Amino acid sequence: MSKHPETLALHAGWRADPATKSVAVPIYQTTSYQFDDAAHASRLFGLQELGNIYTRIMNPTTDVLEKRVAALEGGVGALAVASGQAASAMAVQNLALAGDNIVSSTDLYGGTWNLFANTLRDQGIEVRFVDPADPEAFLRASDDRTRAWYAETLPNPKLEVFPIAEVAALGRPLGIPLIMDNTAAPLLVRPFDHGAAVEVLSTTKFLGGHGTSIGGIIVDGGNFDWAAHPARQPALHRPDPSYHGAVWAEAAKPMGPIAYILKARVTLLRDLGGALSPFNAFLTLQGIETLPLRMREHSRNAEIVADFLAGRAEVSRVIHPKHLAGAAAARTAKYLTRGHGGLVGFELAGGLEAGRRFIDALRMIYHVANIGDARSLAIHPASTTHSQLSVEDQLSTGVSPGYVRLSIGLEHPDDILEDLSRALDASGDVARPLAAE
Ligand SMILES: *Cc1c(COP(=O)(O)O)cnc(C)c1O
Repeated sequence: MSKHPETLALHAGWRADPATKSVAVPIYQTTSYQFDDAAHASRLFGLQELGNIYTRIMNPTTDVLEKRVAALEGGVGALAVASGQAASAMAVQNLALAGDNIVSSTDLYGGTWNLFANTLRDQGIEVRFVDPADPEAFLRASDDRTRAWYAETLPNPKLEVFPIAEVAALGRPLGIPLIMDNTAAPLLVRPFDHGAAVEVLSTTKFLGGHGTSIGGIIVDGGNFDWAAHPARQPALHRPDPSYHGAVWAEAAKPMGPIAYILKARVTLLRDLGGALSPFNAFLTLQGIETLPLRMREHSRNAEIVADFLAGRAEVSRVIHPKHLAGAAAARTAKYLTRGHGGLVGFELAGGLEAGRRFIDALRMIYHVANIGDARSLAIHPASTTHSQLSVEDQLSTGVSPGYVRLSIGLEHPDDILEDLSRALDASGDVARPLAAE
């Protein structure tokens, strides 16, 4: 199979339907699967043979999605789930048990922050937050019950690339895998190439790409030696009573380096039940067919927008991987060699009121809490997603009163700039007369 994402996005994991020769991946809208005979059924339940039993655990449409994303990201296997949040939660729960901890970057998606700071803590998993600018901070925050490190490749609002290789290399000798959320930079950064062991993605965003379907996926890099770290990774080494005492680090070996992702499927997905629907798997596959094309266009248009914003008097700061300084700029150059992605932030000198006026003056760009859509999107966090936080807490997450986040889509750049230009005019302190139309 090709190594090129353009080809993998169209072909990986599927040729034609064995029953009908259908070229498009069929939506296998079924809950269950007929067993050949009693012996076949017991082999499937006993994991002596992998195959379809029930759609909560696996489904042929979802299976193609899993194979395709694993191929694109350079992993050995994947597990699709109902949302990006479910992927983040299960990626951690697959290793960390009550009493254990993980260390995470502070620069996180808000939903992941809540999951880590509140819900996982309530379940007995402590999450220790550290500054991603200092790789050694992950080491200092770890102890013998640290099961994983966690970070986002290109977190917003700061859009500073995480030092993946630098952090992953510190964890590996200790048996601590790095889990990377690659939602904002699929195909642009391949975390496994830099030493990450596990990836999570919200397929809701760039992979689906059309704002139609919530979904998430966990990808196993197949590059982490779980068997070498029995004390560090008890979840993969203690006998599992639900499979007659199977030890996942050993039991999975005949099937390849898939201990982590196999355990996630046959225990966590089985028990927690956050399965993706076959229809959403189908829509996500449709999106992925054009992912390589779209990431190029998102990156191109966003760069045009960032350069345009840098020249506007109303804008006091542009936040884009190309417009960073110092160590952050060096990481952009090291990691974002295939494009800078579709996200752009900026600060309006006029603050909160200017932000509100800007949003209300947009005509084409949608005002929504999403990223990665084919359409351009905008949000003013201080009056929406972050409005419940104090101004100090907003600032500590990188959200100033005049901060606006854009997810730049695939429209013609002239039309994007025209809409932005009108909204910037309207955001100014001094009302300017609108040109007659
Ligand atoms: C949206 C998002 C998530 C959560 O994904 P859902 O599909 O909305 O559950 C996780 N991480 C990042 C970086 C995101 O942007």
